Amino acid sequence: MSEDEDRIAARLEEVRARLADAARRSGRKPEDVELLAVSKTFPPETIRLAVEAGQRLFGESRVQECQKKIPLLPGNLEWHFIGHLQSNKIRKILPLCGTFHSLDSLELARDMERVANEEGFHPEAYLQVNVANDGRKFGFTVDGVEAALEELLTLRRVRVVGLMTIPPLVPSAEMNRRHFAALRELRDRLEVRSGTPLPGLSMGMSGDFPIAVEEGATIVRVGSTIFGNR
Ligand SMILES: *Cc1c(COP(=O)(O)O)cnc(C)c1O
Repeated sequence: MSEDEDRIAARLEEVRARLADAARRSGRKPEDVELLAVSKTFPPETIRLAVEAGQRLFGESRVQECQKKIPLLPGNLEWHFIGHLQSNKIRKILPLCGTFHSLDSLELARDMERVANEEGFHPEAYLQVNVANDGRKFGFTVDGVEAALEELLTLRRVRVVGLMTIPPLVPSAEMNRRHFAALRELRDRLEVRSGTPLPGLSMGMSGDFPIAVEEGATIVRVGSTIFGNR
């Protein structure tokens, strides 16, 4: 095993162990939380090391990067798109990524529905919600997602599987616990109101994924702790 391979395998193992610990602490099963390895900016050779260490689920945030990298990697991997998506790139990304973590407007959802219908795809999507209400450019507000949900759930191609959030950068991860809890509580309210299950909670990154898991994350998006600094 090369040194790099060793290092990535060890980091992956450590992240999986911390994830499993956090799941158990909160009375959940480790296998109920997925690990999305965020490979943006890293070359295919590096991603391949994670694949060799057993990782199958990868996250990318740029369409052009997906077009370049994904065809060079094994076909049995699952790619999730985690960045802000512009409508004019939907047609390019649908054949590459089956899950979208940042469906951040009704307009984007309508465009994705139309293109997915034309091209024959059934994408899964998390609704990005700005629960911290910190003036960020992208993401539904809490009120906005409540207003949009009814229409979003009528889409036949795009399947809304849950909610996603990116909390503010803070000096201590513990400070974001309330935002993770707020996303879970919002999800619970939306489920009751719509009568539709929204099981997915995409929350937690390198600095705070154990806390997100304690607050109910079903998928964490971890980049630098696995691959190193970008
Ligand atoms: C880059 C990125 C991540 C991973 O961030 P790390 O701090 O490197 O773990 C997670 N989610 C989104 C939306 C990102 O853009």
